[in-house]
Amino acid sequence: MPRWVRGGLDFVFPPLCLGCGDFTEDEDAVCESCRRTMATFNRPFCLNCLAFLPAAGSCASCGESSRPLFAGANYVAPVEDIIIQFKFKNIATPARFFAKLIRDQFAEDILRLEADVLVPVPLYYSRESFRGYNQATVFAERVAELLSLRVETGIIVRTKRRRPQSRLNHAQRVTNIRGVFEVTAQADAGRKVILVDDVVTSGSTVREAGRTLERAGYTLAGVISMAHAV
Ligand SMILES: [Zn+2]
Ligand SMILES: [Zn+2]
Repeated sequence: MPRWVRGGLDFVFPPLCLGCGDFTEDEDAVCESCRRTMATFNRPFCLNCLAFLPAAGSCASCGESSRPLFAGANYVAPVEDIIIQFKFKNIATPARFFAKLIRDQFAEDILRLEADVLVPVPLYYSRESFRGYNQATVFAERVAELLSLRVETGIIVRTKRRRPQSRLNHAQRVTNIRGVFEVTAQADAGRKVILVDDVVTSGSTVREAGRTLERAGYTLAGVISMAHAV
């Protein structure tokens, strides 16, 4: 785009920080001050018990059954505000911002898992067609671009409509999510999958999706999310 056009657009739509709404020239629309206040994670969590994983080896309490959860940042302000922007028109910029956080913090750890494919956690179809997109897919595509991985949608689908997990307590979340996913094709030769979601809170959704994939012969290598509420 020619500079004068871009300049004109900036005048009509001044670039505002997705976190605080202040003017910013940051290419991912997150200002210096929001970046400073944001709590990012430099270690993955254990997907089972949500404790930090040690720098080497597996979770002290879960042992070999632990899988890593790579989360960009803690789900509080300004991260919450940036993710809320997905509900408005600007969906590409927050996805790119969190994909870069994941790349900068965890690229090596993720590539070491040697996963065949990134699989976004699906929405119920009517919810996706209402929104027009699944934000986990938009995010997965940005991560895949930066890490030279592949995204595949459609391996796993959400066949039942349930209450939104965000309105439930921990115990309710576990029963509410049980049995909502179905795999459309059995895995050929145990393909290794990394699940991708927008926000992981109790982890019950990604664990249920992971269990469903494993029952169909896939191997769950780990989970990537934009944010995790600790
Ligand atoms: Zn800001
Ligand atoms: Zn653990």
